[in-house]
Amino acid sequence: MSDFSKLRLLILIVHFAGMAGVIVYWSPAWLVLTLISVVLFTWLGQEAYCHRYLAHRSYELGHVWQKTFAFLSIFNLFGSPIGIASTHVNHHRYSDGPSDPHPASAGWRTWLWLTPRFEQSRSVGTVKRLMQDEWLVFIQRHYFRIYFSVICAASLIDIRIAIYVFFLPVVYAFFCNGVVNVICHRYGYQSFQTNDDSKNNLIANLILLGNGVAFHNTHHAHPGVYRISGRWYEIDVVASLIDLFRRKDRPN
Ligand SMILES: [Zn+2]
Ligand SMILES: [Zn+2]
Repeated sequence: MSDFSKLRLLILIVHFAGMAGVIVYWSPAWLVLTLISVVLFTWLGQEAYCHRYLAHRSYELGHVWQKTFAFLSIFNLFGSPIGIASTHVNHHRYSDGPSDPHPASAGWRTWLWLTPRFEQSRSVGTVKRLMQDEWLVFIQRHYFRIYFSVICAASLIDIRIAIYVFFLPVVYAFFCNGVVNVICHRYGYQSFQTNDDSKNNLIANLILLGNGVAFHNTHHAHPGVYRISGRWYEIDVVASLIDLFRRKDRPN
């Protein structure tokens, strides 16, 4: 079984475990921890680091934060940072064409990560660049071991930590990823003329709690700019988080 198939199986199990866990151990107060995990794993680990930093190199980040955010991204369950970034570069390169790793035209198959190129499409240059980073290589090699170790430890302390801190954020992040990959390449408005079908979608950004990547047409037009919003009502909370952590002694 390939690592990508293992990842999809794990995401499926985490969905069931998260849903069943919430029913058995329902506790609204714990949802605050779920929200904190979304900020740590999805916004900082996935969006700020894997997407805007690793794939697009849109700002500078110190070594400690690089390592921290790469580690946090593991628990978003989108795969290793090297895999995420190198696939995403190809999404921009071939966006909405026959070589797009996850074309919106494939609908539910793209939503559920079932398109064949999602697994196979990697930017070779990006893989080579990121393989220079020993920490990223370590994470890629031990991705599942790290994940299971942390989940086992959390479950032994309190099963609700596994459910609310680690499983529910994955369910939410996976749903949001489908919204961006499918909805934001089909429905919405375009602020810029691009060679793809990317759209800006305010409702999608509400679902994403202001993540910002739902202003997808703006992002596809200017992938090297870390602040994705262009108009006053286009809220990009992740860009504000990046402002807290990015190195300001170098121009972006
Ligand atoms: Zn896109
Ligand atoms: Zn991008």
